[in-house]
Parts: sequence; structure tokens; C-alpha cells
Amino acid sequence: MRALVLGAQAAIERAPLRLETRPVPEPAAGEVLVRVAACGVCRTDLHVVEGDLPLVRAPLVPGHQAVGRVERAGPGAARFAPGARVGIAWLRRTCGACAFCRSGRENLCARCEFTGWHADGGFADYAVVPEAFAYRIPDALGDAEAAPLLCAGIIGYRALKRSEVAPGGRLGLWGFGSSAHVTLQVARSRGCAVYVCTREASHRELARRLGATWVGDVREPVPEKLDGGIVFAPVGDLVPVALESLGRGATLALAGIYMTPVPALDYERHLFYERSVRSVTANTRADGEELLAEAARIPVRTETTTFPLEDANRALALLKAGGFAGSGVLLTGDAG
Ligand SMILES: [Zn+2]
Ligand SMILES: [Zn+2]
Repeated sequence: MRALVLGAQAAIERAPLRLETRPVPEPAAGEVLVRVAACGVCRTDLHVVEGDLPLVRAPLVPGHQAVGRVERAGPGAARFAPGARVGIAWLRRTCGACAFCRSGRENLCARCEFTGWHADGGFADYAVVPEAFAYRIPDALGDAEAAPLLCAGIIGYRALKRSEVAPGGRLGLWGFGSSAHVTLQVARSRGCAVYVCTREASHRELARRLGATWVGDVREPVPEKLDGGIVFAPVGDLVPVALESLGRGATLALAGIYMTPVPALDYERHLFYERSVRSVTANTRADGEELLAEAARIPVRTETTTFPLEDANRALALLKAGGFAGSGVLLTGDAG
């Protein structure tokens, strides 16, 4: 099979992912082998490839938003029949026994493993996944359309939860990439007014088209006090900017796995009146199930720019440069 392999971390402009031919992986006990049709590209892939996050194993096949069909099951795996359409996401394994795992907070398990970081991911024709961490993909969603939901969608969904904006409330989004454009659609379907601050003109255009109430540049003051917000951009400087836009009692959720340093906050300007800041760390499987069901019901329409699998370096370089609006998706040639 074809796989895009990272041997050593480097700037994406240097094309660190190499196209290799590898044997199709064998599903271990409890795992399924998936023939990948589509795999989204995510900013986290970029952080892994470029070295913002440490490389925990090499060589590595990145990619953690893969949709495809189950080819066969490993020993003891019986959840999916061959041919079932499934998704492989970021959260790949938890210990199942710690206090976090037993209290609905498996995303905080200290022994979490992640696809495309601790194990090979979806930038390949085939990938394996523990069946307990695979998702059934609703029929309403096409392969390329569903792929970005598996990280961008789920993380945005959890960030929306963490922002505690109620249906009908005013939500602010800083940064408007793959995750935010899904979150906007979920929030709109709940009657929220969404205020979007983003640098790229093409991203502002997409936000308007998807029904944002107000769209501005990244440091532009939002015209109203907001009930909550989410910072998607990995830019710590935006934290005080966003906090100043929040009303009393509002919460700011930081959705990234990586962020540049957050500058000093001023108590009166940024935090007083019970504003709060909280991070978002991966997701639980329940978040994923909920998002996929809600996305199929709305239905969420992901805006995708597709690339052939072998163009993974180019897709990630364009993601870094803000070169497309919505979600970038690699296709193996198998997508339906
Ligand atoms: Zn655990
Ligand atoms: Zn991701």
C-alpha cells in the first residue's frame, strides 16, 4: 500500500513526508483493518510534522481523520462487519481503569494514545484501529465530507460544550479553519448568533456564507458582549483580545493542542466579573458519537478542498499558509 511517512520533523515547506510502499498492516486483537477512502488534514498533523509537538515514534504515518470501510477484523473483534463504513479519529486508546476513564473523562487519561502520533494513522491506503475507538459513519455524510468531522468537528463540538454558550446565545470564534466552520454550523442550528474574527479574507467570506452574524479581522473589537467564545487559532496573543469581548460570567474555551505563550492578563480588563478561561484536551468517545449524530441531523456540510493522497505535504503547507477555507482532505481514490 501507499503511505506518507515522517522520518524526521522539519518545516512542511521541505516536504518531510515521504511516499513509501509498505505492507498492509495486520489488525491485532480487538482491532479492525480499514481501507481508507479519505483522511482530513489537521493543524495537529502540522504540529507533529514540524516539531511543535514531540515525535513519540518514528517513522510515523500521520493522519487522524480517516474514513473508510472495514476490510477485516483482528482476533476477537466483532463490532463491525466487513464493508462497514467507519471513522478513525485522534483518540485511539485509554487505560479504561483510572479515575478519569471511570468518570466520563477518558480524554484526561494519563495513558491515552492518539492516532497519527503514538500509532500510524490515515495518510495511507490502509490503517488499523482498535474497534472500540472507531466510529460508525452516518449514511447522510459522504466520505470526504465526514473525514474532517473526526477531529476538527469533534474538538469544535467539545470546545462549544466547554464554552457553555446556551442555545440562542452569542458565541465568538477566533480563527476560522476546519474546526470553526463546523462549530459555526452546529451553533447556528441551535439558534446561536456567531461572531467570527479571522485573518484570512477567504475564511471571512466562508463565515459570512455559513451565516455568521458578524465577521471581522482577528483583532477587531466585536460589536457586542458575548456569552462565550472559542479560540481556535494557536495564538496566545488572542486570549486577552477574546476575553475583552466576553460579557459577565462568560467562558472562553481554548481549542488547540498547542498555543504560543499567553501574555499577562489584567484582572479587571480580562477576568473580573467571573469570566473564565479553560482549555480543551482531546475528546471522549461520547463527544464523537454526539457530534456525528448531530452533524448528520443538521446536516453539517463541510467545505472541503481535496488532494490526492500523495500530495499530503502540499495540503499541509496550504493549511499552514491559510491557503484554503474549510477543511483539507486527502483522497486515496476510493472515496464514494
Ligand atoms: Zn485511564
Ligand atoms: Zn486533529
